[in-house]
Amino acid sequence: MKYINQMTLKFESLSINESFARSAVSAFCVGINPTLDDIIDIKTAVSEAVTNCVVHAYPNTIGEIEIWVGLTQDTVYISIKDEGVGIADIKQAREPFFTTKSDEERAGMGFTVMESFMDGLEVLQNPNGGTQVKMKKKISKKLMEQGKIDG
Ligand code: ATP
Ligand code: MG
Repeated sequence: MKYINQMTLKFESLSINESFARSAVSAFCVGINPTLDDIIDIKTAVSEAVTNCVVHAYPNTIGEIEIWVGLTQDTVYISIKDEGVGIADIKQAREPFFTTKSDEERAGMGFTVMESFMDGLEVLQNPNGGTQVKMKKKISKKLMEQGKIDG
């Protein structure tokens, strides 16, 4: 795949970094002119994935989270990796309302949200231990740029 731009971010699994991560990713995506709706969707999905790393991957410790973003002319590709505890049954974890933390006000909807806000979601075992979430979103080019409406 030929990307027109790529970046990698590594940071600690502190909850304060959830807002940093979603802002950094959305700021990077601005390069390919997403709509505000696209930006909101991407921010929401990144937030869910990073929160999962903070809450589930490193439950009683602080570990590293690595985000990679690749841009083509019209699609954002995002990978979010941790080296935490991993997911025993990925298929089950992706089901709506499945959570291993039902006692702690978790709804079990994170993966479902990522899936519905993005145009593709893969959940994989990180070969180094932990989890990798890959997502992509095709951005809706602004109508103005397509020449469909006047500036
Ligand atoms: P919510 O996102 O609605 O607050 P949740 O985090 O439990 O609740 P999901 O985000 O859908 O729901 O995740 C489902 C389950 O998958 C989690 O309860 C957890 O067991 C597991 N999981 C998700 N991400 C990770 C991760 N990065 N590392 C380890 N386990 C994870
Ligand atoms: Mg979650």
